[in-house]
Amino acid sequence: MTTPTVDVHCHLDLYPDPRGQVAKLARQKSYVLSVTTTPRAWRGTSALAVGCPRIKTALGLHPQLAKERKSELSLFDKLLPEARYIGEVGLDGGPDCRSFWEDQIEVFDHILASCANVGGRILSLHSRAAATDVLDALERHPGYGVAILHWFSGTQRELSRAVEMGCWFSVGSAMLRSQKGRTLTARMPRHRVLTETDGPFGMVSGKALQPGECVEAIGVLAHLWQLDETSTKNSVVASLRELASL
Ligand code: MN
Repeated sequence: MTTPTVDVHCHLDLYPDPRGQVAKLARQKSYVLSVTTTPRAWRGTSALAVGCPRIKTALGLHPQLAKERKSELSLFDKLLPEARYIGEVGLDGGPDCRSFWEDQIEVFDHILASCANVGGRILSLHSRAAATDVLDALERHPGYGVAILHWFSGTQRELSRAVEMGCWFSVGSAMLRSQKGRTLTARMPRHRVLTETDGPFGMVSGKALQPGECVEAIGVLAHLWQLDETSTKNSVVASLRELASL
């Protein structure tokens, strides 16, 4: 029996043929967290996964869309009772997103406060060039739930703080192709590391990763953890079960 793959950050709704992708994932028995970028996308994206219990759909509002979509926060709150998973949310400190930083803070603080209000959620977080700000925001909202830092690219110091705060991590082949990404991953607590593609944005050699295409990431983790690939996959599936039970 082959071990199914785990992809906890994938934009299923942004592939050309989402229904075909879902059918393929169902055949592969992959576990997928299908993240969305706007509250308005959540219903339609959830509908794609009806009948596929291994595909969970996360309610999101991407930081890069914070300015143009903050009007959807009321819809976010309305949908929140039905959504167990949240993402993609977070902050982006890149030069292209700095001009609407205040909007980003407003949106992210609102989302974390709402999650705390409903007893906590599991969140897939974007933290590009903003790891410290994301961790500061989490600290402002105790009770937000459980954080998975997706494609973490902060410093060693920021990583240590995130680990101390109990954060989880999801890593993909694009991140693991860089020495920095591998060094950070080696220092993450193994039982809080999951795999992701970030497809179709996550690319390797100019090609978008397919949903659930985590074989290369598993290979790198196997090497870092000194395990064989089957044990590495089993370990990631066990961690996912642990996360889902939190
Ligand atoms: Mn993403």
